[in-house]
Amino acid sequence: MITVRQLEALNQRLEKAREIVAQGRVLRIFGQEHTYVALNGQGNAYLVRWDGQDGSCTCPDFVERASKVGMICKHIMAAQLLAEQAAKQNGGRQGEPAVRPKNGADRKATGRRIVDVTPRQAPPPA
Ligand SMILES: [Zn+2]
Repeated sequence: MITVRQLEALNQRLEKAREIVAQGRVLRIFGQEHTYVALNGQGNAYLVRWDGQDGSCTCPDFVERASKVGMICKHIMAAQLLAEQAAKQNGGRQGEPAVRPKNGADRKATGRRIVDVTPRQAPPPA
């Protein structure tokens, strides 16, 4: 069972994870799904994996402590927060295409928007 001490440790990691995200010290690795790099304050980089269910990190905290008791380190937390942010920016719905067409094609397809074809003025900006 989880102890208050463990919860406190997790809470501290989460605070630090939010800082890591705010400071841009966690990044997705281009072309590598579920793979991130997190930078600590001393110029070290850790390789972080987070696939939405499971994760790992190469930092000492995860390798020597957190993983042994089924916990996660601040870098995995930061990767999760980053993944959440990205999902929100893409409309907040998981499992849907990340990018919507910008040319109005989606609106035409739904048929919800009635297009006024009289040439009085330019169409409103999308
Ligand atoms: Zn870590």
